[in-house]
Amino acid sequence: MTPVDTSERPVVLVWEVTQACALACDHCRASARPQRHPSELSTAEGKQLLTDAAAFGDGQLVVLSGGDPLARPDTVELVEHGTDCGLRMTVTPSGTASLTPTAIEALADAGVAQFAVSIDGATPTTHDEFRGEAGSFERTLRAARAIRELGVPLQVNTTVCADTVEALPAIRDLVAELGVALWSVFFLVPVGRGRALDPVSPARAEEVMAWLDGVARSEAFGVKTTEAPMYRRVRAQRGGDGAPQRRAGVTAGDGFAFVSHTGAVYPSGFLPSSAGNVRERSVVDSYRNSELFQRLRDTEALTGKCGACSFRTVCGGSRSRAYATTGEPMASDPLCPHVPDGYDGPLPDRQATADD
Ligand code: SF4
Repeated sequence: MTPVDTSERPVVLVWEVTQACALACDHCRASARPQRHPSELSTAEGKQLLTDAAAFGDGQLVVLSGGDPLARPDTVELVEHGTDCGLRMTVTPSGTASLTPTAIEALADAGVAQFAVSIDGATPTTHDEFRGEAGSFERTLRAARAIRELGVPLQVNTTVCADTVEALPAIRDLVAELGVALWSVFFLVPVGRGRALDPVSPARAEEVMAWLDGVARSEAFGVKTTEAPMYRRVRAQRGGDGAPQRRAGVTAGDGFAFVSHTGAVYPSGFLPSSAGNVRERSVVDSYRNSELFQRLRDTEALTGKCGACSFRTVCGGSRSRAYATTGEPMASDPLCPHVPDGYDGPLPDRQATADD
């Protein structure tokens, strides 16, 4: 596969089509609510956004997220339009009653290239408690099996925090049984309702990433981390095959962009600092030319230990977590325990955690 020049285009463009969702998950970045926002991008505006996004280049990956994308009545139409524009469309439905076999089939017929579902516990009790609705676990598993039966690739997303970390081995087994293509393991960023949860400590995160490296080597599915680019450092230090989970630079604003439900263009959903609004400025222009995105792609602009780190071009730390914890997107990522050789500057405040 030709490497993507991330100064020109994101590897992943996420569009939060709505914040409406019937669930009230503990970790929700969007602090989703039951009703759609009156200023959400309309169908016509959404189609224009997808048409604009096609200018990034052939096969641009676009993820329709939420909230619950199925809370909008036009999701199938949007997938169809995006596919016609040459985009690779992914949908991340919530495990709500809207996730029916009929909805899955309609999206598959519209050309969806991949689905992503969330599994945050290995049992109905733990998953449903985390996601705030009884029955979500069973619905999600039923949907996952239906997606696989249709032959559409499936990604599973899992949140890592103090409440979920012990369940990771059992969730890994579930992921393997479901025959997924990719397991995306998200290390909590304290944004939205996620502020009320305890993240894992830096030391525990390091252990989990070493364990994930072992999972990646032994399982048939791929493993990637979200908001934890130091996984690439961990893999390199463990003398892995030298193949990082993705090419260097898939972090907020550098290989990744996010369009909010009202059209604001952010480097990530966890870094809500706007570079413009798609109603006034094309997403391509914001991504390539805004001062915010250009700064995030400049590893020389990193400060603290991330700025002094020899892994900064393959890792660079989570800019979202730096922003969420310090208000400064170029500061050090407090999740990473690595201290570069010879560095004697300030260290980020370590998070108060349940398992320190
Ligand atoms: S110090 Fe920063 S750049 Fe270095 S590995 Fe840790 S998070 Fe990555």
